[in-house]
Amino acid sequence: MDTGFIDNERIFSYLRSARPPDARETADILAKARQLKGLDPAEAARLLLLEDTDGLQELFAASLYAKSEIYGKRLVLFAPLYVSNLCNNECLYCAFRKSNDRITRRTLSQDEIRRETELLVDQGHKRLLLVSGEGLGEAALAYSLKAIETIYGVKRGNGEIRRININIAALPVDAYRQLKQARVGTYQLFQETYHYDTFRRMHPQGPKADYLYHLTAMDRAMQGGIDDVGVGILFGLYDYRFEVLAMLQHIRHLEETFGVGCHTISLPRIEPATGSDLSLHPPYAVADGDFRKIIAVLRLTVPYTGMILSTRENAAMRREAFSLGISQISAGSRTNPGGYSSGDSGEQFSLGDHRNLEEVIRDIVGHGYIPSFCTGCYRLGRSGADFMDLAKPGLIKRYCLPNAMTSFKEYLVHYAAKETRAAGEELISAMLADIPDEKTRETTVANLGKIEAGSQDLYL
Ligand code: SAM
Ligand code: SF4
Repeated sequence: MDTGFIDNERIFSYLRSARPPDARETADILAKARQLKGLDPAEAARLLLLEDTDGLQELFAASLYAKSEIYGKRLVLFAPLYVSNLCNNECLYCAFRKSNDRITRRTLSQDEIRRETELLVDQGHKRLLLVSGEGLGEAALAYSLKAIETIYGVKRGNGEIRRININIAALPVDAYRQLKQARVGTYQLFQETYHYDTFRRMHPQGPKADYLYHLTAMDRAMQGGIDDVGVGILFGLYDYRFEVLAMLQHIRHLEETFGVGCHTISLPRIEPATGSDLSLHPPYAVADGDFRKIIAVLRLTVPYTGMILSTRENAAMRREAFSLGISQISAGSRTNPGGYSSGDSGEQFSLGDHRNLEEVIRDIVGHGYIPSFCTGCYRLGRSGADFMDLAKPGLIKRYCLPNAMTSFKEYLVHYAAKETRAAGEELISAMLADIPDEKTRETTVANLGKIEAGSQDLYL
């Protein structure tokens, strides 16, 4: 069993020797965490063992502190665009797995991709996550490149997609190079489980069955020039403590090799999927309390990494997760190809949050968060190590908050219903005071005025 840079023995030894921290130790670790320089794996392991209510409350308070210090009150919004549910793999948890005959299979034509994109643009989306099964064989790369071109080509009055991230199967270096040239933003691929035996059992057939090839995809992506990569764990397959510590090893490996870790971490929990018994009874289902703890520990351990929550989670959990450390969410999602035009059929899994974008926005605003459609950093070349250099000294707040405001204002002017616009504008006005630098505040006020008068796409 070759697990590459994942050192199983080390992780198990942390877990064997670590005991839940007492009040004093918890306070010490959290005091260090509040310096926003991250935690080492041994400290993360201790926090993951926390069970007592007081200790957990302190953990949550520290993660809220880190979240607001670094990101302020802004939440980035995106929509997934599923283009194909054909797949040659047999992932036991997924409805798209090859032998599942209980879903309708579909690969969108370029015209259908254009139509889906138009519908998302018309809702006000600016960021898409392109998602696909692994069923197109040798045509897959060309198809994805064409899809990206089609999506970027959609212009609808005031709307367009300004950033495409992508979640597709592991590829060779040259394919990543081509994706980079096509202006792909973050490349996402979830290891699902870092535990070798579990990985092998969960992926009995198909290209994804190769643990090491899957594990080293981010190395190849970075070699191919993609400097923003997104990792993830599918929670419920194996012990979450092992998974989190292994993912931290993955991030450390990327930092040591390429000078920058991952740009985002996704935290899906297994949801019921048609034709997957395993998805109905995940072997290591993660309870809500543990899930909160995972989010908080990660926020403190890798404070500058974006954390993504999808519509797999219900509205109540999503709201809690914002204050614990989540910085990006999907909204108004469909997980079947063609889902925005033609409704549900052939879904990947069932959603926990069925609200449309506007409903999600009203809810977020009601909780004092500014929804952000900003894509400024990427378009100014602030990605990879440059982004991290900017994020680490806390500057992200200086750019992100004003940019969240101007991109949200654009949404309010062009897409929102009257009440949403009123609530959103009130929040923007109240939040201007949170911009620390006076000059930046003045520029932001001026930009908000320009957007009101018809300008678009203004960012710092
Ligand atoms: N086919 C590519 C792959 O597997 O990496 C990318 C697309 S796949 C549809 C995206 C992700 O969906 C997977 O990485 C997996 O974590 C997640 N997923 C699959 N089945 C799921 C389920 N039942 N509940 C929640 N997430 C699931
Ligand atoms: Fe295919 Fe990805 Fe689903 Fe596995 S998780 S069956 S690779 S779509």
